[in-house]
Amino acid sequence: MGADRVGPVAAAFRERTGRDPEGVWAAPGRVNLIGEHTDYNDGFVLPAAIDRLVLVAAGRRAGGRLRLWSLQAEPPADLELAGIGPGTVGGWAAYPAGVAWALGQAGVELGGADLVVDGDVPAGSGLSSSAALECATATALADLGGADLDRADLAGLARRAENEVVGVPSGVMDQMVSMLGRAGHALFLDTRSLGAEQVPLPLEAAGLCLVVIDTRAGHRLVDGAYADRRAACQAAAAVLGVPALRDATPALLERYATALGDPGLRRARHVVTENARVLAAVELLRAGDLDRLGPLLAASHASLRDDYEVSSPELDTAVEAAVAAGAVGARMTGAGFGGSAIALVETALAGRVADRARDAFAAAGFGPPQVTAVVPSDGARRLA
Ligand code: ADP
Ligand code: MG
Repeated sequence: MGADRVGPVAAAFRERTGRDPEGVWAAPGRVNLIGEHTDYNDGFVLPAAIDRLVLVAAGRRAGGRLRLWSLQAEPPADLELAGIGPGTVGGWAAYPAGVAWALGQAGVELGGADLVVDGDVPAGSGLSSSAALECATATALADLGGADLDRADLAGLARRAENEVVGVPSGVMDQMVSMLGRAGHALFLDTRSLGAEQVPLPLEAAGLCLVVIDTRAGHRLVDGAYADRRAACQAAAAVLGVPALRDATPALLERYATALGDPGLRRARHVVTENARVLAAVELLRAGDLDRLGPLLAASHASLRDDYEVSSPELDTAVEAAVAAGAVGARMTGAGFGGSAIALVETALAGRVADRARDAFAAAGFGPPQVTAVVPSDGARRLA
């Protein structure tokens, strides 16, 4: 997957720089099967890398500058490597420039490089095009710089780029799965220990497919609400006397219900029950019981909608339409307030799910959703 896309990005590199790239690297976007808003609570997540990639054609260049082009975004950038740091770069270039900075912080000497980016992970749909861009850049620059860093290290550096140079306070899930994803698998990740386990997700053999319903509603309100939910989780952990909500149990929540109040109790309850649902989902996958995931997906969505209050009318409509069309299960994925829902669907019913979602959106007066199937795929790699 992706090999046929090497030609165009390499040609674009030649056009802009007048020479051949030294290589072409790629990293995927992701869906999160279950485990939403658990990553900043030291909890569990179960994402899968997908068959949507950001490619980076790259070559070294003397002179200490980083030149960046994207076939999807403007403007190009021409930056002095030594001048890159938190707050110095805006726009899309902050992602690859941030990665170069983070590698520099880790002692990787670049000397200068040219990068041309070409991606088909839709930006801002909740499929983590940002992590795909960071991880493709990180693998490219680490290879070119002769860095001795493993994939988890690179994921950590990609996250630093997003947190410190782009300025988005995200967890490490997206970068870990973009780096470590494996075809036919989901990645069970403990965000406290960063322990990662590949869990089989043999959709095709089970006659299932994974459908993404992009509401096209953007992430309205998401920044303020995300910060609010993080703060609520921290406050709840303090009330409960635990380091993070990862350490809380249903019994503990019950004991402190009055002190937590509302919405504190509901926020904490989402995290505690969602962590339990991830563990239950992992058990089902280990046992090969994919078709029993439905109730967990439904409970996750209800919890995000009612307790955590991060869904949206569009996401609820997408989930309800998918289930009504016969999906095994469906839920919102990503931070919420827009973005995408995922549905686990018998392959024969995928068309019906798409039709039902489009009809339901039209009936509700929403703009048309974008519906596509995605395939659990390999993580970051060199393509050429
Ligand atoms: P998501 O990660 O859910 O797609 P984000 O807002 O976190 O949404 O990241 C999207 C941003 O990533 C875009 O606005 C753009 O700056 C950058 N980006 C993603 N893909 C590309 C690309 N192919 N070329 C340039 N920039 C990209
Ligand atoms: Mg992102």
